[in-house]
Amino acid sequence: MLDAVIVGGGPAGLNAALFLGRCRRSVLLVDAGQPRNARSRWVSGFLSRDGTEPAELRRLAREDVARYPSVTLREGEVTAARTLPDGFEVELADGERVRSRKLVLATGLENDCPDLPDARRFYGRGVYPCPYCDGWEHRDEPVIAYGRGRSGRAMALEMTVWTSDILLLTDGPSELSAADRHELARHRIAVEEAPVAALEGDPDGDGLARVRLADGRAIARRALFYAFEACRTPPLAHMLGCDLGETGAVKTGPGERTNVPGLFVAGDASRRVKFAIVAAGEGAMAAFALNTELLQDDLRRRRTKGDPEQDAA
Ligand SMILES: Cc1cc2nc3c(=O)[nH]c(=O)nc-3n(C[C@H](O)[C@H](O)[C@H](O)COP(=O)(O)OP(=O)(O)OC[C@H]3O[C@@H](n4cnc5c(N)ncnc54)[C@H](O)[C@@H]3O)c2cc1C
Repeated sequence: MLDAVIVGGGPAGLNAALFLGRCRRSVLLVDAGQPRNARSRWVSGFLSRDGTEPAELRRLAREDVARYPSVTLREGEVTAARTLPDGFEVELADGERVRSRKLVLATGLENDCPDLPDARRFYGRGVYPCPYCDGWEHRDEPVIAYGRGRSGRAMALEMTVWTSDILLLTDGPSELSAADRHELARHRIAVEEAPVAALEGDPDGDGLARVRLADGRAIARRALFYAFEACRTPPLAHMLGCDLGETGAVKTGPGERTNVPGLFVAGDASRRVKFAIVAAGEGAMAAFALNTELLQDDLRRRRTKGDPEQDAA
């Protein structure tokens, strides 16, 4: 039985593996290799790695972890997980089963993408869920805030941090109250309700160039920030009976503990602030809490078995 299995090899899983490796814990990290920011050009706001490509950040992190011999990194997918009286059992896509005393889910989350034609093609290349990650690169540019009702209004107002040229695009009736419209007008935010026909540009080159409306008009803007809605709960968290918050994220307490003893959930799969460096920090916290639990379990077990030195005396 291993000390820990970590599911997911993004910043959260890799940083948990790094600390557990340093604690000499036997760890298997299984990663399906589909990070949330895969299509993004850079990771911003990550101290000392600001602007690094996501794949490069992972490569560097895996290199760090590979120095610790008690950690095994494996490509693959964990398809099922269950609790055992003394730990967990996970099943990999190839049918292999692995048992461990503790389990860390660092599986990230699946983004909702705006319900616009071509939005997935431009995801991370002009269509962005987070202005903290991509707002700086579009500062003082004309940008689009996308969304209806209060979430669209909130995104449009949030964008005033980065630019004063904001168009709120609602792709149909805006669902804004008179007070909302008044407030948006006070910040010179125009509202466009015409349906969207297409997003145009080169997703593999310069990214988004313009939004084509159904009436034929084109809105030339390189960035569309959309209001991030609820996310899909990690399936393994469902299987293991985790308590969930309103958005579908797993509820975690101190040390990224969940309501399931011995199960930790770190990174985007848990908290509200979804930054790479926060995910890495949560991975480190989970590792600390997990190692402390293992230490306490081991000390207790040795105590109940008797102290060999005293027994000899
Ligand atoms: C377009 C975009 C741009 C972003 N830009 C930035 C930025 O500039 N700066 C920033 O700080 N943050 C940015 N983020 C957020 C950042 O990507 C996340 O906060 C961060 O990746 C979360 O790390 P994580 O380890 O929790 O999850 P992830 O990085 O998503 O990694 C999760 C990993 O788990 C794997 N996995 C999932 N399920 C299983 C399974 N069952 N078995 C095995 N493996 C599994 C996935 O394949 C994936 O490799 C951006 C996000 C997006 C969408």
